[in-house]
This record gives sequence, structure tokens and C-alpha cells, in this order.
Amino acid sequence: MRRILIAAALSVMAMPAAAAPPSDPLRAGAEQVRDQALNDPTAYDFVESLTVDVGPRLAGSEASARARDWGLARLRALGFANVHAEAFPVTAWARGAESAEVVSPHPQKLAILGLGGSVPTPPEGIEAQAVVFATYADLLAAPVGTLAGKIAVVTQPMVRAQDGSGYGAGNAVRRAGASEAARRGAVAYLHRSLATGESRLPHTGALNYEEGAPKIPAAALSVIDAELLDHMAARGQPIRIRLKLESTSTPSTAWTVMGDIPGTGKPDEAIIVGGHLDSWDPGTGAIDDGTGMAITVAAARLAGAAPHRPRRTIRVALFGAEEMDFSDAAFTAAHKDDKLVVVGESDSGSDRIWSVQLPKDAAGKPEMKTLATVLAPLTIYVSADPSRFGGSDIAGLSQVGVPTVSFRQDASRYFDWHHSADDTLDKVDRTQLNQNVAAWASFLYIVANTDVDFRAGVAPAAPPAKP
Ligand code: ZN
Ligand code: ZN
Repeated sequence: MRRILIAAALSVMAMPAAAAPPSDPLRAGAEQVRDQALNDPTAYDFVESLTVDVGPRLAGSEASARARDWGLARLRALGFANVHAEAFPVTAWARGAESAEVVSPHPQKLAILGLGGSVPTPPEGIEAQAVVFATYADLLAAPVGTLAGKIAVVTQPMVRAQDGSGYGAGNAVRRAGASEAARRGAVAYLHRSLATGESRLPHTGALNYEEGAPKIPAAALSVIDAELLDHMAARGQPIRIRLKLESTSTPSTAWTVMGDIPGTGKPDEAIIVGGHLDSWDPGTGAIDDGTGMAITVAAARLAGAAPHRPRRTIRVALFGAEEMDFSDAAFTAAHKDDKLVVVGESDSGSDRIWSVQLPKDAAGKPEMKTLATVLAPLTIYVSADPSRFGGSDIAGLSQVGVPTVSFRQDASRYFDWHHSADDTLDKVDRTQLNQNVAAWASFLYIVANTDVDFRAGVAPAAPPAKP
């Protein structure tokens, strides 16, 4: 971690003082915005206030209504126009009391978090024999009926990777594991948290019950407790576990908060960027996704602030229900016919960006070559691979052919804290946060002040796997 911080500081110090040639006002303007961003307090102040003044905010909860009001006030105070909230229906899931313990061979508490969307256990809990699978593939290989009356436990670890790909690779363990276990007869499901690091804090996240499988209660074990069960299973003794979840699911409403920096030349052409306003409940949603909103809001403001009034409209969206998968469909339905130049979402914490993926065939456009030049001193390169997944809340827009941009952040340590009680403000490194703001602001400035067209060459995206 220390190495990362030093590298970030060095790259900022190494920023060349020399201005761009006067013959290239686009580059000069973008560099000015970039350099301002490196010392701009807006992003950090945004996430500081969100975590302190609002706190955790599950979609559809009382806290999410407070988050909406906070977001509206914040965007207005930052000078955005047309600030409003778009309501849509959600199922509000609430955790309630929960506990798990090993009952035999001897009593021992387990650190767990119920999965978002999980049904509750009966009030007295579920006590049953555990069957421990070292890999998810082992669970899938278990014949139907072999887990009848058992609690299925998957202890497969997650891979740490700069690009966060270990999360996607392990995602089915959390998303689909409960239904796969239920199909084989299990009465409850536990899995090792999708997490790196060695904390005893469990990491939650949403599950998806599949059609035709019984809905069984499901929870994430801390990494350490999953390892404990591995060791117990290796003894060959029967393990009995008791699980108690008191979750509830209720029809409710969530809101996506929006605001504009209106374009002065072609205001009907809009670039939408944002992050998600909802968060899980154990932490304060600082890095998931307070910082994503903070980065894009600060960048939009800088790119559109005087004297840089943009020609195209820069629109920010604070998506209201990413974690439980509700905002994407609502947002797509509301905005698929808008004149959208490109859309992007920041949702990988606050550590530095190392590459940007542009819409297909865009990297060779003159405006994007200028972008590459402006980003190079930030130690960011333009990837040869096009953006395939801009973010969960814009996946639907991507599928109807709206171009996406993807800024790839260093996710090496993100999953140490993500979806756990450790998702808190102290994890935000200001230097790296502002490197993100600088990159997004440079991109927004260039796209909003030119006629660069990303539609040519963009085919509708294939439906993404749920992250
Ligand atoms: Zn997120
Ligand atoms: Zn999340």
C-alpha cells in the first residue's frame, strides 16, 4: 500500500509544468482542467459529508430518502442546473438481527453477514449438518438430493488482482450459490466472502434466486471463519451449524439524483457520468460508491466550470439502487432515447486509474489521441481494448447501443474492504482520488468541447454477467 501511495505522489510531482503548444487549445484546456483537479477539494469533501451526514443507505430504506435529499442539496450547492430525483420501485431488503455458530463438535461463533435479498430463517433459526466444499465446482458436481437437509458451505478463496477480475471470476459463488445448493436439497447456504485480505469482517452483497429453485437463507462467512471450517472439515468429524437471519423485504421506492452542466452549443447532446448513491449497511459506503459519485461530480464540475462552459451538456447521475440491481433497468427505460454521446460510471473505489477503455474504434480519433497525451503524465494509458462494461447502472444503455467509457482503477486492495464494515472514509487516499478526478475531467472536457462521435463502430453490448 505504501508503494502505491508513493507512486501516486511521484506521478503528480512529475507533472510537466510546460504548457501545451498554443496551436492546440483543446489540449491546453484539458491540461488546465486536469491540473486543477489534482488539488481540488470537491471530491473528498463530497465523500466526507456523505459518510458523516448520511451514512449507510440501503436502497428503499429511510436512509436512502435522506441520501436523495442530501444529493439534491449537494448538486445544487455545487452549481448544477436542472437538479432533480427520478423515482422508481424497488424491493427494500433490510438485514435485521443475524447470527451463526458452530454447534458441534463444540460451540463456536461464526462471523457472517446475510446476503442482500436473502429470505430469513424461521424465527428459531436453522440447525443442520454442514457440508463443506473447497470449490464452487465441487458444489456444482454434487448430485441432486445429496444435500437434503444440510447446510452447504463453499470456501473457495477470491484472487487478488489489479484489475479486480478475481471478483467477477468468483461472483457466481455469491450470486447463484444459494439456488445451486437448494436444487441439491440444502436448507441454507454459506460461502466464504468474496474478499481479499485476512480480516474477520464478513463481506455482504446481493444474491439472485433462480427460477425453479427453493429460496433458502444465505450468508457470507468472513475469510477467517471459512478457513476455520476448512480445518474442521479436514478432521473428518461431522460439523453442525446454526444460522439465524431475520431479514425482511418490502416494496419501496428509490431515487436516482441528477444534475446538469448545460451545454452552450449543443445542449441536447449529453454525456452522462456518475456513481451509485445506495450502499450496503455495515460500513458507510465511502469507497462503494461514495467515491465514484465524488469523482464524477467533481470532474463534471471542473470540466464545466468557467471559463470552460462546455458545448455539450455534462450530466451527472447518482444511481439509486445499484447493489440490488434496480437502477439500471429504470434508468435505461427513462433515458434510452436521450441523445447520449457517451456514458460512464465510476464504481471501483478511490485508488488510481491505470488505463482507460474507450468505445470501439475511438482510440484512433484525433480528440482521443489528445486525451491520451493529456492522461499520460497521470500514468494512464489508453487501452487497445474497447470498453465492454461501463458499469452496472449503464449496462442497459450499453445494450441498446449507447457508447461507454471505462476508467480502470487499481483494485488491488479494494476487495479488502468492499461490502464490509471496513468500507469507511479512512480508506480514501486523497492523492489517488484526485488522480481519478483529473482523468475523468480531462475526458469530459474534451468530449464536451468537440463533436467527437462514438456511435460509429459501436455495436450493442452483449448482456454482461452481473458483477
Ligand atoms: Zn458499487
Ligand atoms: Zn457494491
